[in-house]
Amino acid sequence: MYICILRKKRKIKRHTLKTLATLMLCLCLPCIALAQDEAEEAAEEEIADGIREAVDTIDTRDKFTKIVLYNDFSWEYYSLGRPVLDSVDFDDHWNTEKIHAYKELSLSEIPNEVDILLVDSLHAFVPPIVGKVRSRYSFRRTRPHRGTDIPLAVGTPVRAAFDGKVRIAEFSRRTGGYGNLIVLRHANGLETYYGHLSKHNVHPDEVVKAGEIIGYGGNTGRSTGPHLHFEARYMGQAFDPERIIDFENGTLRDTVFTVKKHYFSIYSHYGQTEEESIAASQRMTHTIRSGDTLGGLAAKYGTTVSNICKLNNISRSTTLRIGRRLIVR
Ligand SMILES: [Zn+2]
Repeated sequence: MYICILRKKRKIKRHTLKTLATLMLCLCLPCIALAQDEAEEAAEEEIADGIREAVDTIDTRDKFTKIVLYNDFSWEYYSLGRPVLDSVDFDDHWNTEKIHAYKELSLSEIPNEVDILLVDSLHAFVPPIVGKVRSRYSFRRTRPHRGTDIPLAVGTPVRAAFDGKVRIAEFSRRTGGYGNLIVLRHANGLETYYGHLSKHNVHPDEVVKAGEIIGYGGNTGRSTGPHLHFEARYMGQAFDPERIIDFENGTLRDTVFTVKKHYFSIYSHYGQTEEESIAASQRMTHTIRSGDTLGGLAAKYGTTVSNICKLNNISRSTTLRIGRRLIVR
């Protein structure tokens, strides 16, 4: 430690250096004690000149607290600030096993409009990554793409967008196309997803601060070329992340975001007018999968069986062929 401090000191007198060089040749305790005296003397002289500098920081067991060492051999704790997570009920639908924790919640249970405070004096925003968007939130060929893709180099640090708590941090069969995935729940009520990572740095239930490196960019899962797949969700419902984040400039669009129900449509995206978004959201379709029933679809999309029948000109007894796409809203 002494050696380290001495090395970092900028203005050590020549005679001090000379003495120290001699002293360092003898690797015995009395010499180190002498070196300490010398260093303290030198430090005192500097402190007398009013120069007190931090020379090193040491990690503690608590990642939000560091120890700072000064050139006068004093030290102090330095708090990085602990995220305040009291504004959201983190126990509600908290699940570290299921990727989508709100799956059983239907759209009808979600309010039409909710104002979300994205940043305030206690909660900051840091872009997960800054870069050009390659693929947007949209219906892509045969499947919806519920996030924003930003190309990156494998190993690029990926940061938590807001303060929050890690719900998912894993790479398994369960994460499917997401590959190595991190899901964070935030103090503002949103969840953010970070997919295709090469490595994750955090574990479920861990508290993270906005800007903290939670993982590194990669090419895992259903991915063609290294990129970050970023999703923003409210109560499990995805909306276009570009509504809140300008990825190219690494900034928020606004400090407050009003989540509207029609944003959850895969056809509704940033840049549309209110009317366009509403109209787009009404084109919602569903591709029939094994196990789907009209009742199940009606509940999932917040509509009724008779509405789905009317929209698709079918009856309640029509066989739902797998792969068929129905307009559900
Ligand atoms: Zn993607």
